[in-house]
Amino acid sequence: MKSRNRPLPEPELRAILRAADEIIAQGGRTLLSKILKGSKDRKLLELKLDRNPSYGFYRDLSLEQITAKVDHMIRTGFLETKMLGELPVIVFSPRGWMVERERRAEELLREWDYWLENNLTPSSMEYLKERNRGMIFLFLYKILCTGNKKYIPYLAIWERTDSKKVQAEIRNVIEALQQRDGMDDDQWGRLLQERSKTLLPGSKDPIILACRKCGDPFLFDDKNPGYYTSDGLCFPDQCVNCQEDARRHL
Ligand SMILES: [Zn+2]
Repeated sequence: MKSRNRPLPEPELRAILRAADEIIAQGGRTLLSKILKGSKDRKLLELKLDRNPSYGFYRDLSLEQITAKVDHMIRTGFLETKMLGELPVIVFSPRGWMVERERRAEELLREWDYWLENNLTPSSMEYLKERNRGMIFLFLYKILCTGNKKYIPYLAIWERTDSKKVQAEIRNVIEALQQRDGMDDDQWGRLLQERSKTLLPGSKDPIILACRKCGDPFLFDDKNPGYYTSDGLCFPDQCVNCQEDARRHL
């Protein structure tokens, strides 16, 4: 693969997606580059974009160099632009959103862990309302995968505020966590598999990856729970044929 088509290293890729998340379908390449630069631009400060975790990520690069990184993200299929009236604005590609969605769900889980460690009990979970449904379901799936009952009090608070559909899923997760101790690993594995069918958000648009070995395009199965790890979404780098081939030659 030519290096101009290779994605940016993971930390950079994630930082750019996190900055883009804040201005999606509202701001363009320049605004995105300014967030990453840590610019003191008045418009940027008015929009409170200096609170974004990626603010100043590329502090030491010039705006021109940062824009080249953003363009690389567009070229390698993580971001796209679309026209909003006269202005081109940044939007996620299906693949870019998958990566970002996973990171946001993980961020929510780590926040809960932090609150639990510090004995904080939020009086409401209002902030989780009206968030992207796919991301929220992935968050619930991550909670479920921990098998840890410590989240139940938070889930119970959350259940009071959200929509019927989310409430039902929250109740399922609470119930599953309560049953965890009475189950062996096989039973638990089957339960996770079962819940993943509703909680793992399938992408509307298929995500096509290129096989590193044979170069053929192949479909990424975004409903495979094995790809969602606490370290991030892991994309297979080989097509099924090449994977089987490698296994046969072991
Ligand atoms: Zn292949």
